[in-house]
Amino acid sequence: MTRILIVEDEPVIAMGLEDDLKIEGYEVEVVGDGATAFGRAAGGGYDLILLDVMLPKKDGFAVCRELRQAGVRTPVVLLTARGQEIDKVLGLELGADDYVTKPFSPRELVARIKAVLRRTEGAPAPGQVYRTGDLTLDFGRFEATRRGAPVELTALEFKLLHAFVVHRGQVLTHDRIIEEVWGRDVFLTDRVIYTHINNLRRKIEANPAEPVLLVGVRGVGYRFDGE
Ligand code: CA
Repeated sequence: MTRILIVEDEPVIAMGLEDDLKIEGYEVEVVGDGATAFGRAAGGGYDLILLDVMLPKKDGFAVCRELRQAGVRTPVVLLTARGQEIDKVLGLELGADDYVTKPFSPRELVARIKAVLRRTEGAPAPGQVYRTGDLTLDFGRFEATRRGAPVELTALEFKLLHAFVVHRGQVLTHDRIIEEVWGRDVFLTDRVIYTHINNLRRKIEANPAEPVLLVGVRGVGYRFDGE
């Protein structure tokens, strides 16, 4: 059974979310503050975390950032307030997998959750290990190392890298990247894609300012220049 941790401090919204997700057949737990959320989520056992941004004790951004820093790669969907465009980008920079803007319909939310679960569950074949230079990517175990040291990548970053590795040497346009990683019928701005690429560069490039692996092709997209 798919387990979802709901982190929401407003009881009415939390109860609504709980009902909507239970109807869909998910096993649901609800917590109402960021500190408790971090403890639960770090303990593992969840397939997805639905994380409100505005929370007492520790806000959703801090929870998300600290989980990623702790090596927890459970997919995170942020609940943001209307008009918080900057917050959305920040959320993705902090390692969230998607966001849903309040107010949202149960149908919209469930569709987003299903999309995130689908792409994070779509793991490449076990034992598939790719090496280039000092970078090793184990797509089966979702482990990455650079110069033998672990590199913490989110599930989405692994998916993105996998698409690039499979199509290495080939320019992937923004639309192609979205299709490969997020699926069709998703609209994402170039800025969001750039944010993910930049996060990856910081993690896998020797000099992120002068990338040699994730190379930008002006006006077109990106190309992975690994072996
Ligand atoms: Ca709140």
